[in-house]
Amino acid sequence: MAIVLVARPGALKTKIVKGDMVMIRRGKEKGKRGTVKAVFPKAGLATVEGLNVVKRHSKQGFGGAKSAGIYEKESPVPISALQYVCAKCDIPVRIKYKTGPQGKQRVCGHCAEPAPEPLKGR
Ligand SMILES: [Zn+2]
Repeated sequence: MAIVLVARPGALKTKIVKGDMVMIRRGKEKGKRGTVKAVFPKAGLATVEGLNVVKRHSKQGFGGAKSAGIYEKESPVPISALQYVCAKCDIPVRIKYKTGPQGKQRVCGHCAEPAPEPLKGR
């Protein structure tokens, strides 16, 4: 399965950033939670730590100097299938934006607890 990272027309501008706690709303990992490992906004995909793990069987010398074996790797999931989990409410919530002294800030749509600042450089 090849994952092609191309810009799609109308790709969502994501509110999810690296380091966020999210819950998967669809698919085989539905209901599970994890931390966002990487976001691919142009493709509308993100990888979540420990979720949607696929096993890659590789032979010796295949794709570089790797040794033979089974590797586990997080496979990207659509960002639209992810929902932010508020650390305070401990439930999946919508993210709202609040304009404060520091500019636009992401807050929990339920309790207005500020979301963690996006990590620099993803
Ligand atoms: Zn909250």
